Amino acid sequence: MRALYWDGRELSFVPSFAAPTDESTALIKVHLAGICATDLQIFAGYMAFTGVPGHEFVGSVEQGPAELIGKRVVGEINFGCGKCSACRRGLDRHCPNRRVMGILNANGAFAEYVAVPWKNLHLVPENITDEEAVFAEPLAAAFEMLTQIHPKPDDNVLVLGDGKLGNLCAQVLQLTGANVTAVGKHSDKLSLLDNVGIRTQLLEKWQPHLFDIVVEATGSSSGFALALSAVRPRGTLVLKSTIAGMHQVSLAPLVINEINVIGSRCGPFPQALAALSAKQISVTPLIEEIYRLDDGLSAVSRAGKRGTRKILLRP
Ligand SMILES: [Zn+2]
Ligand SMILES: [Zn+2]
Repeated sequence: MRALYWDGRELSFVPSFAAPTDESTALIKVHLAGICATDLQIFAGYMAFTGVPGHEFVGSVEQGPAELIGKRVVGEINFGCGKCSACRRGLDRHCPNRRVMGILNANGAFAEYVAVPWKNLHLVPENITDEEAVFAEPLAAAFEMLTQIHPKPDDNVLVLGDGKLGNLCAQVLQLTGANVTAVGKHSDKLSLLDNVGIRTQLLEKWQPHLFDIVVEATGSSSGFALALSAVRPRGTLVLKSTIAGMHQVSLAPLVINEINVIGSRCGPFPQALAALSAKQISVTPLIEEIYRLDDGLSAVSRAGKRGTRKILLRP
């Protein structure tokens, strides 16, 4: 099969990569895969991954349980061992022995086929297009926040960062009825949020003030300090960016202001699919362009350009 391969130093297009043969997993024919900031972090050394990258996908099942054959699916990316205490509590994403699709010891979706444990799969409702469904994984990550924090309707919530993740976080928080403000550097990206009724501010014009809840989704190491400075005493700071580099920041304000800090990563697919099916979240305006897998190297370099919206690959 055709695939992109990352050897730890260089990304290449491989026209005849061995297709997955593991019979304990479902074999998915990839319809679309999304390039995400985490992939770009991997190409900067994050997780020391080697293999086929890609963890955002929608596809159809070619091999697996009979009831799934031919069905359109998306998949959770953490493959737990199934035996440890985390897995027994349903927290595969915290299994100490987990593999993570396209990120840790498991090949991902920048290929014609990807192997995924069948229990990780979720059927895609008919009224969701492939172009929408490919956002299920990052949207689920945004929904993870609502399993961790419970904004009240009069809470003032700040989302820092107008990239893909910031956009999805702002839209998910808006569903709670809270007062959401999104702050970012790009007026064209903020306008996507204006269009769905979310208050936005350009960072350069923003007068910092204090919020009950601040979500850091800038994807940059400077975002943390700014986010921290915007949380009211006893407020909550949610960290969504995963950055390969080191942060240098004083933690004293966390103590002095008694800030709750919440790390937030992967989340529940059923909520994401339900929201997409109910057309509560607008995702397709986030798409910049769809590339053929064969042009994957150009697609990745395009995705790495500042201000680019979501780049998708079609195998
Ligand atoms: Zn991702
Ligand atoms: Zn486990």
